[in-house]
Amino acid sequence: MVKIYIDPGHGGNDPGAVSNGLSEKNLTLQIGHFLSDYLNKNYQDVSVQMSRTKDETVSLRERTNKANNWGADLYLSIHVNAGGGSGFESYIFNGQFANQSRTKQLRSQIHDTIVSEMNWNDRGKKEANFHVLRETRMSAVLTESGFIDHRQEARLMRNNDWLKKVAVSHAKGIARAFNLKETSQSLLDDPLYRVVVGSFLKEKNAREKVDLLKKKGYESYIFPFAQQNKRYYRVIAGAFRQRENANRRVNDLKKDGFESFIVEV
Ligand SMILES: [Zn+2]
Repeated sequence: MVKIYIDPGHGGNDPGAVSNGLSEKNLTLQIGHFLSDYLNKNYQDVSVQMSRTKDETVSLRERTNKANNWGADLYLSIHVNAGGGSGFESYIFNGQFANQSRTKQLRSQIHDTIVSEMNWNDRGKKEANFHVLRETRMSAVLTESGFIDHRQEARLMRNNDWLKKVAVSHAKGIARAFNLKETSQSLLDDPLYRVVVGSFLKEKNAREKVDLLKKKGYESYIFPFAQQNKRYYRVIAGAFRQRENANRRVNDLKKDGFESFIVEV
């Protein structure tokens, strides 16, 4: 089992880079969710955890502690760049560390796959003294996918399909680096069933729903998505491989007073 820890950069009271009406924290979260879903669905023997699954404040220390305690094989921190420029770059730690040559190799495979899948302007394989690269006991890679303050790239970032493509390019890079086997076609034909407890125009309302669900013992998260130029915040209370499990969740929710429905992804 290969353990992949996905860290959507920033969140909560730290928006990251903000430009062109976009916040980095929302983009990294969306890419992170797409990446997690894609890995779970398309590859065998892979396990995924995320440093955050919603718009919340999580300290850098909490993020790396969680990955270290879990014993992840890869720490992948997702970011979006700013400061003038365009294209893609990635980072590993700039000091000496135990699994350095392995990390260099993994990063090269992930980096090269992303650049070629996205046909991206390659800004290079870089090194830096970032907390998430330094304080992780496993190989750690940080990616910067495009520039939020670059007008054309920002326009692409508004499109969910494009964010999904970024996530898929990361997944393919990880698959190459860890030699992940693709899920057999018969399993792929089974979609993932997500249980939706509501879609809201205001994030605040979605968050209130998440809190209510939590009180009744349901872990849920907010998944932002765009439809007909409107941004919605969808509350998801479970994702299942088997429809009967999703149905069971819908019934449980109903008993606790929550109306829900199932979407296939
Ligand atoms: Zn960032």
